[in-house]
Amino acid sequence: MSDLLDLPALPADDAGFDASAFDAAFAAQRQLAAAGAYQASNDVLEQLLQDCPPSQQRRRCEVLALLAHQYPRLGRLTASARCATEALALAERLGDDTLLADALTSQAYVYGQLLMGREALQAGMKALAAARRTADPVREAWALNRVGVAYASLDNPTQACASTGQALEIAQRAPVAEVLFSCHNNLAYFWLLRVEEARTCNDAAALAEAVTQARSTAEEATALARRSGSAFQVAVAVSNLLNALLAGGQLDEALPLLNEFGHLAHDHGYRTLAIEADAQRAVFLRLKGEPLQAVRLLEALIAAASEPPPKLRRLLIRNLYETHKACGQYRQALERLEELVGLDRQITRDNLVLQTEVILIRDQVEQAQARADSAAADARRERARATHLENEQQRLREHANALDRAAHEDVLTGLHNRRHAEFALPLLVEGARVAGQVISVATLDVDHFKCINDTHGHAVGDAVLQQLAQLLRHRLRSADLLARIGGEEFLAVLVGIAPQQAAEICERLRLAVAEHDWAAITPGLVVRVSVGIAGGPPPLQADQLLNRADQALYAAKRGGRNRVHVD
Ligand code: GH3
Ligand code: MG
Ligand code: MG
Repeated sequence: MSDLLDLPALPADDAGFDASAFDAAFAAQRQLAAAGAYQASNDVLEQLLQDCPPSQQRRRCEVLALLAHQYPRLGRLTASARCATEALALAERLGDDTLLADALTSQAYVYGQLLMGREALQAGMKALAAARRTADPVREAWALNRVGVAYASLDNPTQACASTGQALEIAQRAPVAEVLFSCHNNLAYFWLLRVEEARTCNDAAALAEAVTQARSTAEEATALARRSGSAFQVAVAVSNLLNALLAGGQLDEALPLLNEFGHLAHDHGYRTLAIEADAQRAVFLRLKGEPLQAVRLLEALIAAASEPPPKLRRLLIRNLYETHKACGQYRQALERLEELVGLDRQITRDNLVLQTEVILIRDQVEQAQARADSAAADARRERARATHLENEQQRLREHANALDRAAHEDVLTGLHNRRHAEFALPLLVEGARVAGQVISVATLDVDHFKCINDTHGHAVGDAVLQQLAQLLRHRLRSADLLARIGGEEFLAVLVGIAPQQAAEICERLRLAVAEHDWAAITPGLVVRVSVGIAGGPPPLQADQLLNRADQALYAAKRGGRNRVHVD
């Protein structure tokens, strides 16, 4: 995750995005959703998501997580799966446990509803871990609640009850009405599944316990629902309570609830619940000993309901099958049983289609994620490469500069070298010629330098050359060029200085050398120099000037050394 911290900044796509207006609108939708106005709030949330640029990762993730939580209530499971998966990818990227828990909790629910038990359980467990890291009991309760749904989809109502029971305990610590209700209501439903299980196994003790538990939890859910004021919650809770009462044969208590459930479902247009209410009335009639009336009701329902969803049709057909069987109408019962088998096959097929769709959605989101990650990695690599190239260029530049310096500099003394002098002298001569200036050239050579080396050693010789170079540099400020052009031979070019004046300058220089404290280098060391000067109006060939200076130097040597000679 730390690797993600230095992702390249996303391109600024949020120009004109009003964060505070967005946050206010989102907070309002949260409240609307909490009050059960799912459709209205989802419409606005979808719009918010559309207006929220990709760079606003956290805000997008929050909206997606809330949409994922709400879509199932509108029966839109695959839409929920898409939002949950996208939210999950963002939450992982942001490394945020709160968002991670929300996204995984929604994902677990959708997978559970689509009977993808293993996936549901996996997502639920991860949601639980993330929720525990946030130390938020409401999130933890939701995650455990969805683990319960996952177990139910794995046909394990016992575990479903256990997880939901834990969820309930935690929900009670942080009483948030919605999760508290969901836990009670799911628990009632899972106990009803255990009623079925006990019936199938002919386990009387288990049946009695399941009926009692189903009834008491359904009663608590109903009480909570009535307090919440949500007609939908009341209808759902009453439906479970009714089933518990019918399972326990408590028909007198069931009747008023049956009427209430029917009215609620029909009046509010809860189509699915309305069919369930009618189916429960048929069960009621059958248990009351009026199976023929139950058959008539069910057949009328099947005929009236235009193309009910397969799951509801299954409920009616199964009911009809049981009623025929109870009346001893075995032929009709068999016909309905065959129909039931066909319906089961269809439901399985429908589920497979949805499951495939959800898996495809997951793959799409994961692929998009991988593409984004690889683009980010590419950008990082490019950036690293650019930095490397830049450094390399800088290094080459420095190297070239060093080479350039080395090519023109004398390493021992730091003065220009012969090569530079050969390059610069013609330019200076030409410049002086064009400017109509005089020019003087002086060559300076150490007297009997070989003897210095021989007497005091090569290192002393080197030190002499270095100190001499310094001395020249300080004394010959007027020199336009100062170079070491041989072992113990130096060149000075003085533009605008006539030979006679140059001679005076060099004479002072010669004296300075002679008076310098050479003994500081080594006792008894004495250094003298001879200088040859040539100059005047600049000649066409710079070489001529140098040759004449050399001649003058030669003359100075011949004349006894330690002297200045002008050509
Ligand atoms: P003269 O007065 O005639 O100039 O005599 P000289 O001994 O100075 O001249 P010569 O040309 O015979 O000797 C120059 C010596 O300078 C020979 C060489 O070993 C020495 N030399 C040349 N380059 C260096 C250097 O970089 N360091 C040292 N220590 N000696 C050098
Ligand atoms: Mg020499
Ligand atoms: Mg010499």
